[in-house]
Amino acid sequence: MAKYDYDYFVIGAGSGGVRSSRIASGHGAKVGIAEEHRVGGTCVIRGCVPKKLLVIGSHFAEDLEDAARFGWNIEGKSFDWNCLRDNLLADVDRLEEAYKNTLSSHDVALHEARATLEDAHTLNVGGRTITADKILIATGSRPGQLDCPGGDLAITSNDVFHLDRLPERVVIAGGGYIATEFAGIFNELGVDVTVVQRSDRILRGYDHSVVERLMHISTIKGIQFKYNSPFAKVERQDDDNLLITTENGEELEADLLLAAIGRPANVDGLGLEALGIEQKRNGAIKVDEGSRTNIDNIFAVGDVTDRVQLTPVAIREGHALADTLFGGKPWTVDHGCVPSAVFSHPPIASVGLTEGEARNTLGGVDVYTSDFRAMKNVLADRNERALYKLVVDSATGRLVGAHMIGPDAPEIMQGLAIAVKAGLTKQQIDETVAIHPTMAEEIVLMR
Ligand code: NDP
Repeated sequence: MAKYDYDYFVIGAGSGGVRSSRIASGHGAKVGIAEEHRVGGTCVIRGCVPKKLLVIGSHFAEDLEDAARFGWNIEGKSFDWNCLRDNLLADVDRLEEAYKNTLSSHDVALHEARATLEDAHTLNVGGRTITADKILIATGSRPGQLDCPGGDLAITSNDVFHLDRLPERVVIAGGGYIATEFAGIFNELGVDVTVVQRSDRILRGYDHSVVERLMHISTIKGIQFKYNSPFAKVERQDDDNLLITTENGEELEADLLLAAIGRPANVDGLGLEALGIEQKRNGAIKVDEGSRTNIDNIFAVGDVTDRVQLTPVAIREGHALADTLFGGKPWTVDHGCVPSAVFSHPPIASVGLTEGEARNTLGGVDVYTSDFRAMKNVLADRNERALYKLVVDSATGRLVGAHMIGPDAPEIMQGLAIAVKAGLTKQQIDETVAIHPTMAEEIVLMR
């Protein structure tokens, strides 16, 4: 008789947990997974996927406006929030089913219940005791809450996909990915948007000139930004009115407040402390490069470890772990050179070192930029310029970073990220023939 109920038990059926469980099962392990909410996790249920559908849906506002310059007469256009919301929620349902099917077709036993740790090999799963040889914690992260008085009056990105109606005025707390992306979505949909950031810049970590370009374009589009403005309190005035006071004494009224101030690790009540599982100061689980905690048979991947909080990274971490533990193919994830995107209007995409980082870490740096108006924007008479930047190590000629803002930047960046990851040189980029006429051809034409 087997010593444990499972060879591998995964807590959390999000991107990292689902990938790890099905790969482990494919390697012959007996695998169970527990999920207390919905299978698919943040990315599928209340993150990347529904957000991207809102980004696409809201961008039609610009496209329909521009269409007139291309000869289209679109009379009587109107927008129906409930239609977009219901369609995207239906797509989320479809994807959840697909994820469940993936688990069952890979013989992973799904427990739709909350799991907590009792000891290094024992879990409480919805009141039932389950034992496992190896345990993976893949519980992700949750939206941070404003900690000022009245902070609980703010909604989070979890709630935004379920709104009964669009607000007229939204205040967004924060200046990261979620704040920037939802500022763009709401603005495109005609909502009055104010982004209130506690510090002096948004999108920390992204290339300065690219972020400045986004600020410039967003301001022209009507998004308002307030900096160095930590929240002091939030008060409800009536059903449709919140009064937000910043520590500078400034008062803002809004009918919706969205808190987008980072995502702490989802660890509350898991039982980490009793087992002595080491955590970082922000609560995230400490792991080594093989995703192992300080307890030999307990592992963690994804947002709960706060290495790089991105779905594709969680997926790779989960995959690497399953291959290592059960497939006889040990490998680890390279957390450097991870490409990323902000789905603003227009979007930003980035990989590798920013110009600032390169100047601080390399001897000499060559920077190439292309500042241009996309063909469509020229004919549409839309005063919106794209900016591409390549950062090159002058000693080796290698491309060490690429940063861009402009239409389809994330789609273009995925290909360029291969060049940066592979360590191609600027000369090799230059030797590549352009595809004309495209925006992406700028990459091979920068001199
Ligand atoms: P981010 O970490 O991107 O940004 C958090 C923002 O909130 C920062 O501007 C920060 O300011 C501010 N902030 C932090 N704490 C407080 C506080 N207590 N009060 C007020 N402001 C505060 O967080 P998000 O919530 O936007 O996103 C969470 C994570 O989800 C991201 O790190 C990202 O990895 C992932 N994500 C990725 C997306 C993508 O790939 N396109 C989309 C959405 C999310 P300061 O700069 O001063 O610290």
